[in-house]
Amino acid sequence: MSEFPEGLLLEASGLLSSSPSWTIFIHQKADGDAVGSAAALFEAGRLQGRRVRWVGPDKALPAPFLFLPHTEEYLFFEEFAFDDPEELYVFLDSSNEDRGVRGLRSRSRETVVLNLDHHEDNTRYGTLNCVDPSCSSTAELLYRLMRAGDWALTPKIAECLYTGLVTDTGSFMFSNTTPRTHRLAAELLSLGVDPSRVGSRIYQSRSLASMALWARALSRIEVWGGDGEFAVTWLKQDDFSLAEAVPADTEGLVHQLMTVRGVRFAMLLSQFVPGQVKISFRSEEEMVEAATVARGLGGGGHPRAAGATVEGALEDVLAQVRSELEKRHAEWIASR
Ligand code: 5GP
Ligand code: MN
Repeated sequence: MSEFPEGLLLEASGLLSSSPSWTIFIHQKADGDAVGSAAALFEAGRLQGRRVRWVGPDKALPAPFLFLPHTEEYLFFEEFAFDDPEELYVFLDSSNEDRGVRGLRSRSRETVVLNLDHHEDNTRYGTLNCVDPSCSSTAELLYRLMRAGDWALTPKIAECLYTGLVTDTGSFMFSNTTPRTHRLAAELLSLGVDPSRVGSRIYQSRSLASMALWARALSRIEVWGGDGEFAVTWLKQDDFSLAEAVPADTEGLVHQLMTVRGVRFAMLLSQFVPGQVKISFRSEEEMVEAATVARGLGGGGHPRAAGATVEGALEDVLAQVRSELEKRHAEWIASR
């Protein structure tokens, strides 16, 4: 992979430093990388004396991340007016214009949008696009931006960035974990991060409702294909209400399917609203890529962690995704 141009990081940090007022946006179904990166940038902005706001399309941030600074200042907007030429609109961890609040597509021409992301399929929708798929996480990219701009890295900022790093790499176990990721983790620990504090905040803070939800999904896992290499499970709206769970409680669930021996491709179908199904895809090395199957259904994402949203009844979408997976898998076998 070619080296990401340092100049772009400097340009992005320069744009931030020359803008007195930032609005930070994160994507729907916010994860640890989105929340951690936003909290880090928010804190850095405040330290630099900027006016900072933080906006997203989820009603609330996931509970496990509420220990991070400034999460209490998060604002929910379904739709946002992008019309202030003096404002810097910063998008974090958002691969396209439809993953966040509505309104970005109809922004006025003179608005300035900074796109900071690590998704390979980022559509480069910003005025300035600082997108580096070689970064494990947006947090890793943001760290490099802050270093390039010679910004102060406080223990608080380090803890936010570490949260993004640890969640997007599956606690340093996913294939996006590189030597640079571990060097960054070491650097953040040197800056004062307590990994056991962050770990227990994020991974030992489950609600009983989310356990009840997972129990429902785990009790109906279906495994099929060659040596049982494909796995799928699903959750309907009923499951959420019976478990008293919320959409954010599905975070991490699809990964559980990958922990079954032999499973190399996993899918979770969740019906949050009637007539629409959100699908999460995960794949291992030496297997058709999650992103290939997701793209076949109008979605996208990282090669091995991708998603899509498909209209229809759950049973129909289930049949559709199974056949899409089998088709793409057969194509992948034939191409080897
Ligand atoms: P998750 O399964 O954790 O919700 O999403 C995994 C990855 O897939 C995310 O990082 C995101 O980039 C991508 N993704 C999830 N849902 C969608 C979707 O509906 N459309 C697109 N284009 N990408 C998605
Ligand atoms: Mn990310």
